[in-house]
Formats: sequence, structure tokens, C-alpha cells
Amino acid sequence: MPSDKTLNAVAIDGPAGSGKSTVSRLVAERLHYLYVDTGAMYRALTLKAMSQKIDLADEKALSSLAERTKIALVPSSDASETIKVLLDGLDVSGAIRTLEVTGNVKYIARVPAIRAIMVDLQRKMVNGLGGSVMEGRDIGTVVLPDARYKIYLDASFSERVKRRYDELIAKGKNGTVHEVEKDLRERDHTDMTRAVGPLKKADDAYILDTTGLSIDQVVDRIVNYVSSKK
Ligand code: C5P
Repeated sequence: MPSDKTLNAVAIDGPAGSGKSTVSRLVAERLHYLYVDTGAMYRALTLKAMSQKIDLADEKALSSLAERTKIALVPSSDASETIKVLLDGLDVSGAIRTLEVTGNVKYIARVPAIRAIMVDLQRKMVNGLGGSVMEGRDIGTVVLPDARYKIYLDASFSERVKRRYDELIAKGKNGTVHEVEKDLRERDHTDMTRAVGPLKKADDAYILDTTGLSIDQVVDRIVNYVSSKK
């Protein structure tokens, strides 16, 4: 377990639609910290399993795939994104955001051996760095329990549905509010009830309900919280 450097990390957890990704990226920019999107790592492995047509119920085959896979997050020179996701050296930043990958990531995220590999990799990413913002589901509880700053972002279910639906439409994708509701409900359930690394609030997390707040307001609150604890 990395020691003192890990402490200089901002661990941000929360359910889908809580605003985590946008907010985490902006907080990292404001603090000049490295941004680590752990969901992207689970998504990348899901994409590889799908493209290799691996049976998603076969945990052994999935674990062995994880052992043979290289996932890296690297800074992007493209202004529209902060990091690029490399899967065995190939840029999959866009390909991991499809509805198919989103729907299948639960099969990957529930495998204990895969989580162990991911957690190890995530700890190595922040080790030796000046500061980092890492977002996910199990960051404050499992990956970086010693992080100095822990935030649990939440929002009402209807607000999260609205944000996800608006995102979908903005990206020109098809979908109904009903479908988004169903997807979020299922994701909440699988994320919160997983035996290993479930989504839950760390006891020492700052709980921030973002319902009715703008992105800038949320970013300000987190940056203020970090400054107040420095
Ligand atoms: O954050 P994002 O929605 O991209 O994450 C995709 C999925 O990856 C989540 O629904 C969750 O099942 C899984 N995940 C996880 N642990 C993390 C981050 C994401 O299990 N630390």
C-alpha cells in the first residue's frame, strides 16, 4: 500500500449520474492534480472481453484476460478530453462509452480477481505523485482508504436521470427517459450490492448532495473543502 503520497489524493465516489466525472476532471484541473477515472479501466476490460467474445459469465476466463491486458490512462492533447484510455496500447477512449459496454461492465466489475488487479494498478498510478483526483465507486473505502480528502457525491434519483438523459440527447444518441431510469436503477443496484468493492460512503467522507447545484458550485465546494483540510 503506498503511504504518504497516497494521502495527497482526493477520492471521489458516488453513483452514476452524480456528476462525478465532470466534477472530478475540473477539480483535478483546478488543483493541478492527476485525474484518474477508474470506471474507464473497468470499461476498457469489458470492451476487450466483448470483442474477444468471452463468455461474460465465465469469471476464470475474464480474470485470465485481465492478467493478459494492459490498461493505461495517459494525458490527452485533445482539448475535449483530459485523459486517453489505452487498451493494450490502442486508444479506446470513445469506444468504451457505448451503451453495450455500459450494460456489460457489471460482469467485469463483480469479479474479485479482476478488482484486485485494478486496485493494484490504481494504487500504483498515484504512488509517487504530487497529487491526484481519483473517481470511482470504491476509492475512499478500498483503493485509497488513506486518502486525505474523501468525497461522496450524490444527487436525487430524478436529478441523476435528468442529467443522464440530457447527456444522451446532447451526444445525439437515442433513448427514452424510461430507459435511462431503468439503466440507473439497475446500475445502482449492482454497484451497491456487489460482494467486493461495492459503492458505499466511507465513514470519513464529505457527503455532497449535488441536487440543484451547478457544476461550478460543486467544484468550488470540493476545492474549498480540500483547501480547508490542507
Ligand atoms: O464511472 P463509470 O460509470 O464509467 O463506471 C462504469 C462502471 O464500472 C460502474 O457502473 C461500476 O460498475 C464499475 N466501476 C467499479 N469500480 C470503480 C469504478 C467503476 O466497479 N472504481
